[in-house]
Amino acid sequence: MTSLSDILPFSLWDERLDSDFLTIAGPCSAETEEQVLQTAEKIHDLTDIRVFRAGVWKPRTRPGSFEGVGEQAFPWLKKVKDKYNFLIATEVATPQHVEKALANGIDILWIGARTTPNPFAVSEIAESLKGVDIPVMVKNPINPDFGLWLGALERFHKIGIHKLAAIHRGFFPFEQTKLRNIPKWEMAIELKSECPDMPLIADPSHMAGQVKFVGGLAQKALDLNYNGLMIETHINPSVAKSDAQQQLLPEQLKELLDKLVFKQQEVIENNGNDLIESYREQIDSVDYQMLELMAQRMQIVRKIGEFKKEKKITIFQLRRWIEILQTRSDFAKKAKLSSEFVKQVMRLIHKESIRQQTDTSKDD
Ligand code: PEP
Ligand code: MN
Repeated sequence: MTSLSDILPFSLWDERLDSDFLTIAGPCSAETEEQVLQTAEKIHDLTDIRVFRAGVWKPRTRPGSFEGVGEQAFPWLKKVKDKYNFLIATEVATPQHVEKALANGIDILWIGARTTPNPFAVSEIAESLKGVDIPVMVKNPINPDFGLWLGALERFHKIGIHKLAAIHRGFFPFEQTKLRNIPKWEMAIELKSECPDMPLIADPSHMAGQVKFVGGLAQKALDLNYNGLMIETHINPSVAKSDAQQQLLPEQLKELLDKLVFKQQEVIENNGNDLIESYREQIDSVDYQMLELMAQRMQIVRKIGEFKKEKKITIFQLRRWIEILQTRSDFAKKAKLSSEFVKQVMRLIHKESIRQQTDTSKDD
């Protein structure tokens, strides 16, 4: 358990948030006044959502992409706030952003996945919020480092922010995967186990990367007892300047919300079943990641198979196989796994690899 205590639930963040489940929607980026106002109007008319998100400054992986319109978006967001009574949330990455956001009546701040992993940046932002009573939501870092996520939350807590929440937006995958970011649900469950009072919001949009996966991920988060959702929504996603493929139309947002099933959390007399469930969810998540990695390994194996066929090299390579067995069993010891167990697993994998390459070599 950490020292993160007295974290306030959403209903104590603002009187307009009358439930302890929080849904946030709005565009990835504020682009134009019309886009912001039209998106807000539709979300307001179709749903009960109270918090409108929009990125003003966009930290982009590479230069040259749309980096947000900056401060000029604030009057547009002010209009959204006044007209539709939304609370407004935006991302801040520097103390200067904080100063501008506070001066322009932003209600909720979030720290982006590219800022969370930098302790200097997080400390500076936290420092600039000393004495300010504003909710802060911290996205998980791009890389699956649990300590950095927790550490960023702790830095805000330490300077006196108790309106805190964690946003789970998934982790950057090494390889091409179906989802844009791998959820690694077990990380969020670990956070919940460490800090049971920390509200946990899922951001299925950034996990998904594509509209078609957003609904399923949102439901999965509800099934894991998340406390909120942040869903990117745009009046015309096809022309969005950032994250076009994952943004929902307001109508799609409404449909998604209507379909979500909020399940009753079963109350079991303190017999530990709920703990087992949470561990099982972690195991499920790890198993699927292992299988996904296995599929990636076999893809590479088939590519090597093609190469061996073309160059007329034998499929079985004794020296390489001995090296694999040795290095993996050495690794097993360091990872506190039985080396005999790991050798057995590797033998099975190797057998399947040989089978796949044999198939490849028979192809024509
Ligand atoms: C965003 O919310 O639009 C964003 C940039 O998210 P992340 O920091 O999770 O990539
Ligand atoms: Mn985005």
